Amino acid sequence: MIPPILLDGTATAKTIRAEVGAAVKALTAETGVVPTLAAILAGDDPASQTYVAMKERACARAGIGSRTFPFSSTASQAEVAECLAMLNADPSVHGILVQHPLPKHMDEPAILSMMDPAKDVDGIAPISLGRLVAGLPSYHACTPAGMIELMKRYGLPIAGKHAVVVGRSVILGKPLALLLLQENATVTICHSRTPNLAEITRQADILCACVGKANMITRDMLKPGVVVLDAGYNRVPDRNHDVGDVDFEGASEVASAITPVPGGVGPMTIAMLMKNTLLAAQTGAA
Ligand code: NAP
Repeated sequence: MIPPILLDGTATAKTIRAEVGAAVKALTAETGVVPTLAAILAGDDPASQTYVAMKERACARAGIGSRTFPFSSTASQAEVAECLAMLNADPSVHGILVQHPLPKHMDEPAILSMMDPAKDVDGIAPISLGRLVAGLPSYHACTPAGMIELMKRYGLPIAGKHAVVVGRSVILGKPLALLLLQENATVTICHSRTPNLAEITRQADILCACVGKANMITRDMLKPGVVVLDAGYNRVPDRNHDVGDVDFEGASEVASAITPVPGGVGPMTIAMLMKNTLLAAQTGAA
């Protein structure tokens, strides 16, 4: 048995963040522009707070300016909309992140639709997703974009492969399927109503798990030689670390390449957010 290639998202993200840092330095030296990312953080979801804090640290390390606009979980939609309008109009802000999920009383698609698409570095506003469907330039959702980037950096071919995406959320499964299609994969999307899931996953050359259920993809659901990308991030109470949607040990016996959890897909998200923010600043400075 040949062990699979471990797709190291931590190391790859570090390389990308260093590349972004060097490009930020050059841009600032040439034009005086400091790429800046603003985050709207509404509510008290601990995972969102952790993510925004990680983003702030990554920005600081890359020389990217970072501003966070916190709102309480009882803030009104109008207050958040007003902040968004202010950030849209501020030329010193190049990228805006509206942290998901917003409090339940807010209409998330409506708020995201108010964002200037040129600043949607998180790539999840309806207009950005629509442009992706239409094959027009847009910022791509950071986690799916990171999964594609990881495969490319390891030289794994995508074109002509059968990619099976399990999960169809707006932030992950759907944009990932569209990006794989853009890379000329043949794409199947599965979801909670898919009967005989294993029959379909066994056909995958590239299996992308985007569900949020610990270890639900098992060895018997995979074809030998498959490339496995596991976006799942699941808390398991009796373990001291989080696990993915794929049973890593079992899958490693058949896969040719696989992402670990943690340290696979996860770190790529912030790296892609940094990359998109740089791009937004470069575009604005051009
Ligand atoms: P989500 O919105 O809950 O979507 C989950 C998807 O999985 C849905 O489309 C659902 O189908 C599908 N699903 C549920 N049970 C299934 C089953 N038994 N068989 C097949 N499909 C099933 O979740 P999400 O936001 O996309 O996140 C998914 C996972 O990715 C989570 O673990 C999350 O933490 C992780 N994640 C990681 C990152 C990162 O690493 N940076 C970023 C985003 C998300 P239906 O549509 O039919 O309900």
